[in-house]
Amino acid sequence: MSRSTSPTSFVTRFAPSPTGRLHRGHAYSALAGWTRARETSGRFLLRIEDIDRLRCRPMFAAAIEDDLRWLGLDWEQPVRRQSDHMADYLGALARLEGMGLLYRCFRTRSEILQTLAEAPHEAPDAHRPGRIGAREERQRLEAGEAFAWRLDAAVAISGLGASAPLSFVERGRGPANEYGRIVIDPSSLGDVVLARKGLGVSYHLAVVVDDAAQGVTEVVRGRDLFAATPIQRLLQRLLGLPTPAYRHHRLLLRPDGKRFAKRDSQETLAQLRAEGVDPATLRRELGFA
Ligand code: GLU
Repeated sequence: MSRSTSPTSFVTRFAPSPTGRLHRGHAYSALAGWTRARETSGRFLLRIEDIDRLRCRPMFAAAIEDDLRWLGLDWEQPVRRQSDHMADYLGALARLEGMGLLYRCFRTRSEILQTLAEAPHEAPDAHRPGRIGAREERQRLEAGEAFAWRLDAAVAISGLGASAPLSFVERGRGPANEYGRIVIDPSSLGDVVLARKGLGVSYHLAVVVDDAAQGVTEVVRGRDLFAATPIQRLLQRLLGLPTPAYRHHRLLLRPDGKRFAKRDSQETLAQLRAEGVDPATLRRELGFA
């Protein structure tokens, strides 16, 4: 694979989280990105998204590389590990805070879910809990209460100005067949959580920082992440980061129509290897010659 570093060359990445063993769905996604990189004489990167300390395990990170190698893929070294770059994510968080775009939210996830269950008509507001008064905030901080940093979507969007609508280029297909330049409806964006006290930064923030740091020109990933793209596009815009194109691919389903899950050990690549499955056969089954 070409190691060209020309700024116009194609760069994509496969970015699994080491929370379990890879399954066929991951194999499909990794092959989709790797094949695109080959077709375009571009670069294929592997990124280990291991900032969720409660769910990620180093042994799964090592197993990811083993499974991908078995599948016949190669990627550039060094592999980027998100846990090595916390300072970059915290720097991005501090920049957004310095721009007045974040607020502390003391509501727990279960409180928010409860509001959604009890008063579904308030659903949009539940995703935008809003700022609290300075005095209450001080008291809660003094009491040592846990909080999340949320992006104030309304303030962020109004700061962008009406002349430059948020959009991104979809080269695959969204869940409703979306394709091409997709203009984002700002009112669809909630006050996304970007960090939690003591638990680190969110997936969205780390992803946009990394995609920019790694020079990714096309994000190839499953349609299950289509809804994450508007949020990530907004963060790129606020942080002045370049925007890759997106290629959301179909989700591979099990014969019973359900999605593959990491907890289902019967479906993992490790299991297929143990059964003596030939990786070339698997690649063909997944539609990659
Ligand atoms: N780490 C994410 C996952 O395993 C994927 C992130 C991405 O491709 O943007 O679902």
